[in-house]
Amino acid sequence: MSTISPGKTALLNLYYHASRPYRWWNRRNAQAAGGAPMPVLFYHRVADKADSSWTVSNKTFIRQINWLQKHFEIISLAEAQRRIRHRLAGPPAVVITFDDGYGENCRNAVPYLIENKIPCTYFVTLKNVLDGSPFEHDMAAGIDAPPNTMDQLRDMAAAGIEIGAHCRNHIDLGGISDRSVLYDEVVAPREVLEKELDTSVRYFAFPFAQYMNLNSHVFRLAADAGYHGVVSAYGGYNWPVTDPFHIERIPVNNDIIRLKNRVTIDPRTARPPRFRYAGSIV
Ligand SMILES: [Zn+2]
Repeated sequence: MSTISPGKTALLNLYYHASRPYRWWNRRNAQAAGGAPMPVLFYHRVADKADSSWTVSNKTFIRQINWLQKHFEIISLAEAQRRIRHRLAGPPAVVITFDDGYGENCRNAVPYLIENKIPCTYFVTLKNVLDGSPFEHDMAAGIDAPPNTMDQLRDMAAAGIEIGAHCRNHIDLGGISDRSVLYDEVVAPREVLEKELDTSVRYFAFPFAQYMNLNSHVFRLAADAGYHGVVSAYGGYNWPVTDPFHIERIPVNNDIIRLKNRVTIDPRTARPPRFRYAGSIV
């Protein structure tokens, strides 16, 4: 499913090419001033056919990754945090992540990343992995898309894909303050995944992860539990900060032009962080 019309694609192409010199000039200036913003991308499902707005076709995925490899260094989330924290200037870099945990990702997308030694953090919802049930948003859209199995995650972890936690039940954590509920959604899935996969689980992804779905209790709980970072999903860039515990991410859709626009720091959307955890919430 293409989520933008041919007319809008043409306009975005025009905008991208017209603003490209400004973007690179802007980036050089930002680096000279102590660091450029770091884009961190998130995918959901990569399948043969892009039949929902959260699915990217296998063909487009390969095109996107090849384009990113040509223009960016693709680095891990941990390396991104290190560069953000220490204001390290360097070649343009980008991070790739996935949310939810779709079985189909293991047909083409994940093997392609592994073959090409591309780092990736892959966030999974524990309930679906354990009981094999499809995600609610797919059922509502009439899409049959099974989740990953624990065996797939084990193979991925063994091949160098970093597995992260994405709640037990994929619920909106925004308004929850009950500590036992938050523990069961945020900390307990990590313990289960670490035991099952025999690897450390260092990152947590908020479900939905718009500004309204974030929760300062979760940031504190995650930090206290030993997570290295928490990621959101409302399209922000990551500017140099002393404690990049909260990493903002940018969605990837089934096209190449929005990816190009977003990842080269779109001046329309580049803005300072809105919700940063560093002992205090800003
Ligand atoms: Zn999700």
